[in-house]
Amino acid sequence: MEVLWKCPQECSYLQIQDILDGVDDLIQLSYLNEPSVLHNLHYRYSHDIIYSKAGNVLIAINPFKDVQLYGNDFVTAYRQKFLNGPHVFAIADSAYNEMMRDEVNQSIIISGESGAGKTETAKIAMQYLTALGSDSDSGSDGIECKILWTSCILEAFGNAKTSRNDNSSRFGKLIEIHFSARGKICGAKIQTFLLEKSRVVQLARGERSYHIFYQLCAGAPSGLKERLNLKMASEYNYLNQSGCLRVNDVDDASKFHMLMEALNTVQICKEDREHAFEILAAVLWLGNISFQVIDTENHVEVVADEAVTNAATLMGCSTKDLMLALSTHRIQAGKDIVAKRLMLQQAIDSRDALAKFIYASLFDWLVEEINKSLEIGKRHTWRSISILDIYGFESFQKNSFEQFCINYANERLQQHFNRHLFKLEQEEYESDGIEWTKVDFEDNQECLNLFEKKPRGLISLLDEESNFPKATDLTFAEKLKQHLNTNSCFKGERGGAFSICHYAGEVLYDTSGFLEKNRDPLHSDSIQLLSSCSCHLPRLFASNMLNQFQKQSVGTKFKGQLFKLIQQLENSTPHFIRCIKPNDKQLPGIYEKDLVLGQLRCCGVLEVVRISRAGYPTRITHQEFASRYGFLLSEDNACQDPLSVSVAVLQQFDFLPDMYQVGYTKLYLRRGQIGALEDARKQVL
Ligand code: ADP
Ligand code: MG
Repeated sequence: MEVLWKCPQECSYLQIQDILDGVDDLIQLSYLNEPSVLHNLHYRYSHDIIYSKAGNVLIAINPFKDVQLYGNDFVTAYRQKFLNGPHVFAIADSAYNEMMRDEVNQSIIISGESGAGKTETAKIAMQYLTALGSDSDSGSDGIECKILWTSCILEAFGNAKTSRNDNSSRFGKLIEIHFSARGKICGAKIQTFLLEKSRVVQLARGERSYHIFYQLCAGAPSGLKERLNLKMASEYNYLNQSGCLRVNDVDDASKFHMLMEALNTVQICKEDREHAFEILAAVLWLGNISFQVIDTENHVEVVADEAVTNAATLMGCSTKDLMLALSTHRIQAGKDIVAKRLMLQQAIDSRDALAKFIYASLFDWLVEEINKSLEIGKRHTWRSISILDIYGFESFQKNSFEQFCINYANERLQQHFNRHLFKLEQEEYESDGIEWTKVDFEDNQECLNLFEKKPRGLISLLDEESNFPKATDLTFAEKLKQHLNTNSCFKGERGGAFSICHYAGEVLYDTSGFLEKNRDPLHSDSIQLLSSCSCHLPRLFASNMLNQFQKQSVGTKFKGQLFKLIQQLENSTPHFIRCIKPNDKQLPGIYEKDLVLGQLRCCGVLEVVRISRAGYPTRITHQEFASRYGFLLSEDNACQDPLSVSVAVLQQFDFLPDMYQVGYTKLYLRRGQIGALEDARKQVL
């Protein structure tokens, strides 16, 4: 077997497959190490075989080109089992079958770094499930069609061009697809996590804000443009600051028309759509509002220009009220309320906070409207399949609060991954009756404790410091050093920095901005302004905000969401897909070994492989084993049962007792054991 992986170019893929069924599963390779895994994936990738398996985990390497694997003929072939190689369709198919068979909810958990192909993979899984569960004769309102079109809407409002991905999702997403007892789709529900709000007001060089802004500016029909006082994207500060207004090969205007079709299909009514566009235009105009300093103490007033008038008109408030809300802060002084003028930076911050709040509220509102339209026919719902598409582990040169939250989420998901993979593996051994001492795996509980422990975990300490008016990012960093040094996953660093040893590697975080981002403040003046607007949406946003009894910090809210998510996943049978990005250029045909290896290590694939090495990577039914190797026996065995034949083969070839186990249904062989038999077989044939 080892020979195979030294010169795979010399054997065709079919020959490899011939030697051991299912070599597209890395775990069934007898010779396993990083180079051979890498080589195997590379070999397959260069033949456009982008999918492989590592045990129960599907590995998907982004082809960055159309690989022609997703047509309806493929759906049918996977459904009818003409095809059974690794594929997203195969994963979706087993999720569906297991749901029907075991009557248990299922989840498909997709992870990987930005640009690795998670969102595309989620859509491919949705394509399969909607094809499978479509119910043409029940008058289901074309719910399948609606489900597929939601991606278009969510991507317009929640995706943006970044340096890593021209269509990067800036939020996490869980979509539940509900089925009736007959296995037909009867509804769906979308949950989103942690939209990146800062993108609305601040962009890195070469990146863009959310697609919807450019689509609206480019594609709105003239009547709408007039009503919104809409200019070209290049006229808006929130959009033009990054020097990037276009995405290669993307026509924003035609995307806008597609979005309109999607909104139509999902039945977001015309009025609601118009309101949403007003809000978007208002956000753009807010970004053009400027301030002038009026005294030596840097106090400001709003410049009365078209920006502030347009923003006010679109929100449905008076220009004067908007100007006041952005340049003053009203405080209670005894019985009176006095208005204090803001200084330049404070005013800019309050304007940006308002824009971010409005946009994030619009996003949440939209998701809610979509959910209403996908509403589950309560009488019919029975079980569900959830698809999770959530940002992968991030480690950059500079890591801030966003990475902190994202990596925390990944720790939680990794724990879920560990529990299931290693638990399942060990359960198979137990149920097939072989002797097996439990293998311990690297668990990340210590790191989760670092985040979650009360009252002295990262999140609690961050909240404590956020509630303390005089605190700064530096005092926060000091506090961490003081309280967390005993946790082996924590390291205090110089200045305002600290490191966390994540399961996927050590990450250095810079605390600057942590407190502000965790508090995510919105002036009471701004909330009051929104409440007084004549337009429906701003008022709704304000009342949603006021209804939150006590505003939670961003970190604590996220932690709560994650707990709920994990609980939901725990109540389902998981199917894991790990997406891999083969190069940073978003180009087809380039496979950078180091980049791939880094991701395989990070996402735990090699860990799965490692665990199986400690176990029995080769598992063959008695039947298969006997028919493949039985003829090697020196004595005639024609009338013997497969188990006896198998045991006789093992004895004839002097297998050491601790190199194999005989289960009720299968033989379990240690790594490298099958090679001797394959060699003998080749010699005879
Ligand atoms: P992620 O969600 O992990 O950040 P995406 O799913 O947005 O990544 O994928 C990034 C880009 O890679 C897509 O816009 C698409 O061009 C390409 N891509 C991803 N998966 C596939 C696939 N299966 N076939 C073809 N192209 C793909
Ligand atoms: Mg994505």
